[in-house]
Amino acid sequence: MQRHILRPAVGQKGVAGVKDGHGAPPIDPGIMCIHNSGTTEGEQAPMPLTIDRPTILENARLALPDGVRSGALAVQDGHIAAIGTPPAGDWTRIDLQGRLITPALIDCHTHIIHGGHRAQEFAMRLEGASYAEIARAGGGIVSTVSATRGASVDDLVAQALPRLDALIAEGVTTVEVKSGYGLDMETEIRMLRAARRLETLRPVRIRTSFLGAHAVPAEYSGRADDYLHEICLPALRAAHAEGLVDAVDGFCEGIAFDPAQIARVFDAARALELPVKLHAEQLTHTGGTALAASYGALSADHVEYATDADAQALSAAGTVAVLLPGAFYTLRERQAPPVAAFRAHGVAMALATDCNPGSSPMTSVLLAMNMGCTLFGLTPDEALAGVTRNAARALGLSDCGTLAPGLRADLAIWDVESPAELAYRIGFNPLYARVFGGAATQG
Ligand SMILES: [Zn+2]
Repeated sequence: MQRHILRPAVGQKGVAGVKDGHGAPPIDPGIMCIHNSGTTEGEQAPMPLTIDRPTILENARLALPDGVRSGALAVQDGHIAAIGTPPAGDWTRIDLQGRLITPALIDCHTHIIHGGHRAQEFAMRLEGASYAEIARAGGGIVSTVSATRGASVDDLVAQALPRLDALIAEGVTTVEVKSGYGLDMETEIRMLRAARRLETLRPVRIRTSFLGAHAVPAEYSGRADDYLHEICLPALRAAHAEGLVDAVDGFCEGIAFDPAQIARVFDAARALELPVKLHAEQLTHTGGTALAASYGALSADHVEYATDADAQALSAAGTVAVLLPGAFYTLRERQAPPVAAFRAHGVAMALATDCNPGSSPMTSVLLAMNMGCTLFGLTPDEALAGVTRNAARALGLSDCGTLAPGLRADLAIWDVESPAELAYRIGFNPLYARVFGGAATQG
């Protein structure tokens, strides 16, 4: 498809493509202008696209759950009012010239709030340093914990914003953010406050997960149960009392917590009526997936070592399998998640960046889609479902993730012909515009 750049006609103040002659909709200064797919040399930048009144996006291609259909999508009061045939009446009309509309993307598993980075450790590893040598040099999760403990809310927010902006620039409107690099009462809560702050600074929706059971801090080495009793569970209750927790997460692995310890965390979550999710079966099989399913978890994440029986359990519980190819790639893992078993048992699969400073310093959902296809064998349609409707499900959200009347108008508009192009390209961002709850931005 040829790339179209919308420009206002000479002497006309309206936004290009707007046909109703109401004049230029005001550009809300509170709405950040975001990335667009660029202009060729000498071309004028596209005009901002603003949706602040009942609007029909017409001449579009709509990525619906059962395939792509040409038609229109109407937006009113921040929601999708209709799809398919445009309704009659006095609507602002924007001609999308055949562009593809998908649900806005959702990154349902991130650790974007954290202090510092681990580039030095990355370099050491490539120069042949062992894990133990890196740990002795202060590397590993310990370095992130100490950098995070030393950061204020303002610091954490300032460091996270460029990562969040990179996601937003790819049409992401909802981001899950975990705690888990504080591992003490104050810092776990500070991380969640920083996460909540993000949605006051950007047009984005944040869902928080309390991940106190991420690792055992050095001061509790060999005393994981004491850490849970003295720090993790009190921090969970305090964070919940402050309204900072949307879900409770844990890391079930030989190097972290065993299923019995995770069960204590889940029992505490249940007592607070909070949903749970779990990092499970990433490096070994420990039984975390079955445990998560037995608690009706929203999601079991990583799941490389999940078995056929685990897939059955996820299916029966309606728990989403969140696949995280960025960590698989960075750690050069060999065991891919059992996608065929997930398909056979009808397990919903999501994809996410797992953005974190150690095993997945990745801020591209589009790249996660590509990796999900190339490394795990997902189809492009599965990849798109994985970052839209199944990602919404992994966060317990039923008001977004699909193009359907009544849902939030969280949309991504792309300069591509088919959804497959989103997963196919590597390191290319064809976003044309992003619509967040009815408010559109286009760079
Ligand atoms: Zn993670």
